[in-house]
Amino acid sequence: NPLMLRQGEDVLRKLLESGFQCFFVGGCVRDELMDRPIHDMDIATSASPEQVISLFERTVPTGIQHGTVTVLMEDYQFEVTTFRKESSYADHRRPLSVQFVDDITEDLQRRDFTMNAIARDINGVLMDPFHGREDIEAGLIRCVGNASERFDEDALRMMRGIRFASIFGFRPVKSMWRGLLAGRDKLSYIAMERIRAELERIVLGPHPLRGLALLDRSGLLHYTKVPVPSINDIRKDLLETLGKIQGNEPEVRWSLLIQGLGIQGDEASRIMKAWTFSNAVAQGTAEIVQFDEAWTEAKVRPHNEEELRRVWTTLQVRFGKSVTEKWLERQAILLEGCNGDHGGANDSKVSSLEMTRLWHESLSVHRVQDLAVSGNEVLLITGKPGGPWLGKLMKQWLLSVALGDLPNDKDILLEQAKAVVNRDER
Ligand code: ATP
Ligand code: MG
Repeated sequence: NPLMLRQGEDVLRKLLESGFQCFFVGGCVRDELMDRPIHDMDIATSASPEQVISLFERTVPTGIQHGTVTVLMEDYQFEVTTFRKESSYADHRRPLSVQFVDDITEDLQRRDFTMNAIARDINGVLMDPFHGREDIEAGLIRCVGNASERFDEDALRMMRGIRFASIFGFRPVKSMWRGLLAGRDKLSYIAMERIRAELERIVLGPHPLRGLALLDRSGLLHYTKVPVPSINDIRKDLLETLGKIQGNEPEVRWSLLIQGLGIQGDEASRIMKAWTFSNAVAQGTAEIVQFDEAWTEAKVRPHNEEELRRVWTTLQVRFGKSVTEKWLERQAILLEGCNGDHGGANDSKVSSLEMTRLWHESLSVHRVQDLAVSGNEVLLITGKPGGPWLGKLMKQWLLSVALGDLPNDKDILLEQAKAVVNRDER
């Protein structure tokens, strides 16, 4: 992005003119070296936060105690951070104090990985004391300094390392991996939101299987506050599919992860919530998993087609239209995933998916609102006060109509309502 670069260089120029050292640092330098799109540009400088504030017209003191000031330029903003080092860390997650320094090398030394510890000056000259460029070229994730110590200082770095490995398709070097195995239990000190944010980037990234395999091999997720039950029976096909889908409903992706990790449907919502997902996403994910489990279980028992249709329709009414459609979408993606396979097994899966889709599309009622009578009409004709009985009755109707056992006809339904109320009163 030439405009962002130009405005970033304007920031550097201004700092240089006032006699300060300054560099682009971190992700933007790394991404440029990797030919990846750059979303923001961070700047490191010898100027103090106060000096930065007085030098630029529009600034925000974003994290002034850590030395960070946001400088607002015409179209872009830049985080400008004073060179600093960090000393003694509390609880394996944050530095107790930061100390401003006047040397970029010291600043680079506090950074997590060699690829993130490169500075670039206004002329494009790199400061790369830890040989991050070589590691980028070789596709390696290496800590700056001693891996065990760096993970002990801040345990989130382990998740970041796996996230970078996953997104870039890089490999952790041996020392990094050994440090990670030695320090993995410290992940329990890290807030779940931050772990989840990394997990989310792994799962939504281009090679989720890579990150998940590293998570699995490291056992890292066992040391969160929400240990996953068991990754033994990992379902590779589900996880591999994750890597192929982009832009789908997040619940579809999370349902693949949950089942891929061997987590059962009745555990799914609890785990998703503990991972700090919203109730809606947790619930939506769990329902896709539960739908899938129930359908898979129903199919192993011998059924003729009519029996299967009834089972399917019952599930569809129980879980509702949106969950059913997400499950269908997921099933189609999974099938696409094994397109390369040959033989009848796949054909039968395709025809079974087509069959369920047909059942779904031919369903005349998906929710109680689709019934020929409303709740109010039922209350009027029965003269009975509303209550849980009404919802129950309408759900029952929905299922019977969906199954084809009852016509969706106003008179018939109202007759039934009267009969039910009379029976209950007797
Ligand atoms: P991206 O923004 O694509 O996630 P990034 O490398 O820019 O990647 P940020 O979280 O934006 O990551 O951090 C900016 C820089 O700050 C990093 O490149 C790294 O040098 C440093 N950094 C970030 N988090 C840590 C950490 N936990 N420990 C050490 N250094 C870190
Ligand atoms: Mg960044």
